[in-house]
Amino acid sequence: MPKTKISDVNQKLEILRQRFRTKAAVELAHVQARASGIAAGSFMAADVLSVYQSLHRLAGSAGTFGFPELGKLARQLEIALKPLAEALATDPDGTVRAEPIARVVNAEFLREVDRLVQWLSEEGDRDDASAVTTEPGRAPVARAAEPVVLVVAPSSDVSRDLCQGLSLHGFQPRLVDQLEALDPAVLAREVSAVVLYDWELEAELPFLALGNDRPPVVCLGEEDTFLERYVLAEKGMDGFFTLPLDLPLLVDFIERLISERDELDRGRVMIVDDDPELLEHYSLVLEEVGLVVCRVNDPSTLLTSLSEFRPNLVLMDMQMGRYSGATLARMIRFDPEWLGLPIVYLSSEENRERQLEALSHGGDDFLTKPVSDHYLQRAVLVRCYRARQLEKLATRDSLTGLLKHSLANAEIENEFARSVRAGQESVVAMLDLDHFKRVNDRYGHRAGDMVIKGLANLLRHRLRKSDILGRYGGEEFIVALVDCALDDARAVMASVCERLSRIVFNAGDQEFSVTVSIGLARMNDYPTVEAAIEAADKALYERKHSGRNGVSLAPDSNLGRTG
Ligand code: GH3
Ligand code: MG
Ligand code: MG
Repeated sequence: MPKTKISDVNQKLEILRQRFRTKAAVELAHVQARASGIAAGSFMAADVLSVYQSLHRLAGSAGTFGFPELGKLARQLEIALKPLAEALATDPDGTVRAEPIARVVNAEFLREVDRLVQWLSEEGDRDDASAVTTEPGRAPVARAAEPVVLVVAPSSDVSRDLCQGLSLHGFQPRLVDQLEALDPAVLAREVSAVVLYDWELEAELPFLALGNDRPPVVCLGEEDTFLERYVLAEKGMDGFFTLPLDLPLLVDFIERLISERDELDRGRVMIVDDDPELLEHYSLVLEEVGLVVCRVNDPSTLLTSLSEFRPNLVLMDMQMGRYSGATLARMIRFDPEWLGLPIVYLSSEENRERQLEALSHGGDDFLTKPVSDHYLQRAVLVRCYRARQLEKLATRDSLTGLLKHSLANAEIENEFARSVRAGQESVVAMLDLDHFKRVNDRYGHRAGDMVIKGLANLLRHRLRKSDILGRYGGEEFIVALVDCALDDARAVMASVCERLSRIVFNAGDQEFSVTVSIGLARMNDYPTVEAAIEAADKALYERKHSGRNGVSLAPDSNLGRTG
């Protein structure tokens, strides 16, 4: 997913900041007029509440738009008015007693409000404008379909073999003999993982300081001592493998590191807030780090948006006109589907008791307003990551990370319906490893598992992100190649067969290789997805009987036919 350019985001945020400023001026004028009226003896409960709500809004949002000073001043006034507002809110028709109101909304209070108005018109411009320039976050990462692995090693037979092996596993290896020459920005943007071979422990590696912005680094070494491993961990390395190398094991390890890093900035967040500028601001800030955001301005559309957007996390404002965030959270939980959906309140409520009360309604956590852009990004990224990990446990096969059987079928069903509507061609493939019982018998179940993972990783790298990959059972896989012509699908699957057959797997000191058989069917040739899957299965069966290790087409799938 392309991430928004930082300069564009800053421009949009600046527009929002100016819009907020205009609105804040109107809000303050309103506070000023009402407060003057109250101080002059008009003790209307509605006026007091309205002043309180305005101050509450300003206190919760000014910091976000780059006016932290305004937020702090408004918060002080809000706190002064709070006991009064709460008493009135619980007893709106009760007698409004003059003295307590006059005690709070007094000449001093009015002077403070005047100070706010004054401040906004004079100081606002000079306020920390850097507050709107969001921290750079992670640089946009444009990754090729096949992840680039940088191999830092002197040119030798060993390093060339390593590169060749990585390429069979569906990576794009790049061999360099030193790391210093490499621009850290390029490293962060284009490289998915780094393998350091025969590397001096004392050597400095400045790029490690890039923190989360750098790809994971795995070291290969001859010696395996506690001290060596400790120093590597201390330097911030992510893994260590000894030579001679078990390549499939290394590949699997790199694969896990890459997918963890990939996962970190993916996620779907729904923001529910009735303040359009705040909603837009939060959205831009979260989109900047790669999250997909659904904006819900009108809480009454919440349920429809939920089922359409299917977020990993909901950020919920606490007070939205006549709607309360806590009640909306409880309402969301009416639907068993959303019982596990994390709901985080974004609220200026600081009272722990009241926070707990709101959490008991079905929320999971609190972020207290005003929240800095950077903190919001981090807090949401990490929560989204957790939520996605949990979701994965339920939907993904633990050995390969591919979709489980039933879910793969459901996704293929959805995707097929969509691609037919869009007039596209799609292909379904069934895969089954050849003579796999023999692999297990000769080399053990663990070696068999490595093969299954190896094929899964190869598929992940060779196919498009939009394609659907599922593990159907033991050593059987299903793949839907979305928006893909049959002859393209056949070429890509043939290359998967070819690469797999060239990978060398290890079991102790034995080496072996495996092959896979694949059956293809063009989904558009069948009335239902089930019928297409059945046809692909038949084609697979046919391949098993005509020599394995290759691709067969279902008889009804005619190459070159369209529509
Ligand atoms: P064919 O070429 O005809 O497919 O022969 P095959 O030996 O692969 O036959 P079949 O598909 O019937 O056998 C599948 C074997 O895969 C049975 C089982 O031992 C093994 N298997 C299934 N699931 C797993 C798994 O999760 N891990 C490992 N290591 N082996 C598995
Ligand atoms: Mg089988
Ligand atoms: Mg088999």
